[in-house]
Amino acid sequence: MTTTVGQALDHREVLDLYRRHLSRGRAKISEVFGTRMEVASRGAWIETSDGGRYLNAGGYGVLIHGARHPHVEAAVIRQIRTNPVASRILLEPEAARAAAALGRVVPDGLAHVHFAGSGAEATEAAIKLARTLGHTRLVSTTGGYHGKTLGALSVTANGLYQDPFRPLLPEVSHVPFGDADALAAELATGPRACVVLEPIQGEGGVVIPPEGYLRDVRAICDQHGALMVLDEIQTGMGRLGTWWGADREGVTPDVMLVGKGLSGGIVPVSAMVATPAVFKAFAKDPFIHTSTFSGAPIAMAAARAAVEAVEQDGLVARAAVLGETLLTGMREVVDRRCPQLVREVRGVGLLIGVDMAGPGLAGALLAELVDRHLIVNYSLNAGAVLRFTPPAVLTDDDVDFLLSAFDGACAELSARYPTADSTGAS
Ligand code: PLP
Repeated sequence: MTTTVGQALDHREVLDLYRRHLSRGRAKISEVFGTRMEVASRGAWIETSDGGRYLNAGGYGVLIHGARHPHVEAAVIRQIRTNPVASRILLEPEAARAAAALGRVVPDGLAHVHFAGSGAEATEAAIKLARTLGHTRLVSTTGGYHGKTLGALSVTANGLYQDPFRPLLPEVSHVPFGDADALAAELATGPRACVVLEPIQGEGGVVIPPEGYLRDVRAICDQHGALMVLDEIQTGMGRLGTWWGADREGVTPDVMLVGKGLSGGIVPVSAMVATPAVFKAFAKDPFIHTSTFSGAPIAMAAARAAVEAVEQDGLVARAAVLGETLLTGMREVVDRRCPQLVREVRGVGLLIGVDMAGPGLAGALLAELVDRHLIVNYSLNAGAVLRFTPPAVLTDDDVDFLLSAFDGACAELSARYPTADSTGAS
């Protein structure tokens, strides 16, 4: 089959190209979710080539602003038309403005920024930064997710993704998430540790630690001279109804990782922010850790505008309010429709997990939701948990649509599996 650049493709041609050039496995996904093709997006909605519409409550947690937020879109278009990629020899103002914007909203003390393109790259930067201070031993948490480049994968505790790529980094251990005593015991076994963890585990299945956990982690790291790296790639930028998970406990880590929503949903960009003391080596030598496109003006314009859009539109407060409404509504649906199929609906702000009685049920619910034009995400480190991460721009009608689709999907699943035993998921 030959295709011309710019020519519209039908779904059979797209599937064929997926199979031949991308991934047969990816092509197979359409056997479950259908062959409609997304071609446009705006706000909370995705449009398909046949004119269909889907509410996007997935997006891997990227779309806190929704798709194509006007402020971010305008900033990026302006930058494309003026200076998308910099010489890196002359001074360039967009990087400085983006760093200042991020610096304005992160916890006090995290004054220095290193920009990158993906969450995994931000994690890599943090692992390397820790090494400049002699912290070569990594401690992360069971179920934690920090990306899939080799270093990030070493702290992402999932054999499924790790095993094909061993050996990974040496001197890595994992402790149970939410268990401060376990962390203290691990740090007591030796010096030079760098602790990497999320405030709430996203891909781990929306795991919320006990109150005070982050404060305890901070104190334990201080006691043992360990660095604390807080991965806010999924939880940050207002998703939890606070700017950062760290704000929920008034904690300042030594290093914080930002990604996903920092893109404004338009240009991939991530960041590692750190205290001046920790950032020393990167501040002194700008070539110690570089990448061609890191800090490119087009990404910097997106990042600055993404921060401004959250501020201007009050998206942090909106995420808190919407999150409460959705959590209450979804719990009510589950109690009424299918308590036998769901272990728990839990969440903070717009990071909500539906913990099903088994992975098969999570897949079945996902398919039912897609059938009802609602898109959500599975969790990479927790097969039984579906994650709802809608944007903070949902209207009241969008909320009604989401809850009604969830209600219909739960009713359908309950009819199929009327008792817990009938699911075979025990
Ligand atoms: N850290 C966390 C907490 C994440 O949720 C993710 C992605 O889901 C990453 C890191 C990796 O980010 P990326 O996929 O952009 O590399």
